Amino acid sequence: MTASGISSDAVETFMSVERSYFIERNPKSRELAERARQSLYGGVPMHWMADWSTPYPLFVQSASGARFTDVDSHEYVDFCLGDTGSMFGHSPAPVASALARQSTRGLTTMLPGEDAIVCGEILSKRFGLPYWQVTATATDANRYVLRWARAITQKPVLLVFDGCYHGTVDDVMVRDHGGETVHRPGLVGQVYDLSQYSRAIPFNDEEALEQALKQGDVCALLCEPAMTNIGMVLPDDGFMQRCRELTRQYGALFIVDETHTISTDIGGCTRLWSLQPDFFVMGKPVAGGVPCGVFGCSEEMSQAMQAAKARINQAAQSPEGDSHAHGHSGMGTTLSANALAMHCMRANLEEVMTDAAYEHMLPLAKQLAAGFRQVIAKHDLPWSVTELGARCEFQFCAKPPRTGAEAEAAFHDELQMALHLYLINRGILITPFHNMTLCCPATTPADVDRLIQTLDEALTALLAIPG
Ligand code: PMP
Repeated sequence: MTASGISSDAVETFMSVERSYFIERNPKSRELAERARQSLYGGVPMHWMADWSTPYPLFVQSASGARFTDVDSHEYVDFCLGDTGSMFGHSPAPVASALARQSTRGLTTMLPGEDAIVCGEILSKRFGLPYWQVTATATDANRYVLRWARAITQKPVLLVFDGCYHGTVDDVMVRDHGGETVHRPGLVGQVYDLSQYSRAIPFNDEEALEQALKQGDVCALLCEPAMTNIGMVLPDDGFMQRCRELTRQYGALFIVDETHTISTDIGGCTRLWSLQPDFFVMGKPVAGGVPCGVFGCSEEMSQAMQAAKARINQAAQSPEGDSHAHGHSGMGTTLSANALAMHCMRANLEEVMTDAAYEHMLPLAKQLAAGFRQVIAKHDLPWSVTELGARCEFQFCAKPPRTGAEAEAAFHDELQMALHLYLINRGILITPFHNMTLCCPATTPADVDRLIQTLDEALTALLAIPG
């Protein structure tokens, strides 16, 4: 028996039935998977697309609202929503119209337009930070904020929580191993030691936080207000406020990455919990699914950025007075803040990411969490449910985890994959790698009931297999 309370043998039997069923149900995806292997490395356009629970990738025909259809014409209710990229539903109508409008007006020019100003104005009002920058992805936004943090504080070390994910930023790819910072397992091509300038500590551990900051070399704490990438882990009451106070006390910056937690409130946890970060980061759904990220900063930071820039430019000047920097700050990509993304972000902020959208999403997640709890109780399983805003997750541990390590200890990958595959075979998709769900403005109460009922059926079938 495993910590999840389910025997591995039973999971294996259950999984093999589901694999066969998937193969029988998805002949066209199979054909495309075979064809894809001829031209795409690993048979997918990005290698992690092969990491789902399915025997081969499920190929998508189209997606709209809370649903998508695969190439074998099965319709799915989507609780993954592109892992938040489509948090407001697939192809929201205002974003689709914006895409069409901008499609003939130029896609990218390396120059700003009025849309950028409108976005800046909305973001300032919504998140309470006065100045904004636009990037191509949330990963980029985190990377650039980190550069600014090091430049401003002139301190080298980034502090993160063990089990975090902030995109493929090198500096965050570390774990805490009993008080020592080590590389995250699985990194490809890592040749230098990340622990030189990154430090990982457990979430919800005020003492570890203070110890790490006390060393005096920390430029910033980069964190999600609640962890969402190693299973969901909520902060203890007041922990985020302590993060703010302690970073301030020890001269480190407080960077809040709301790329996922923006599902909590239209102003994110930042506004809901009055976090007052120095920098705020968001990506994924900010332009309604069109690639885009943003970061905002306080007035104080904007002045510190100016001062850091002046100092750096000064250092880049030759004795004759001309600069050798030529705009090479180490930040920005060619397509950052392109005209298409800006127009779509404007439409998304003005018409899609609205109070009404959140008013629809939040109660559905509550309904889902309550349903998960009922199913867990019915089957007498030692599992728990964690909920935050429009997101909730069932975890294979009796008490909700308080740290990344606790959340990870509750992983039972084979069980998770088997349950996900059962759901996929019955037209429901949830976020891969753990058991997180997200409701969007097009999700219905009936969709939520369907997920609850299908999970119940999966567990009934699984628990009937002799372990
Ligand atoms: N921050 C957080 C909290 C995330 O969860 C992710 C992606 N899962 C990112 C940043 C990076 O987003 P992207 O992959 O779109 O750059």
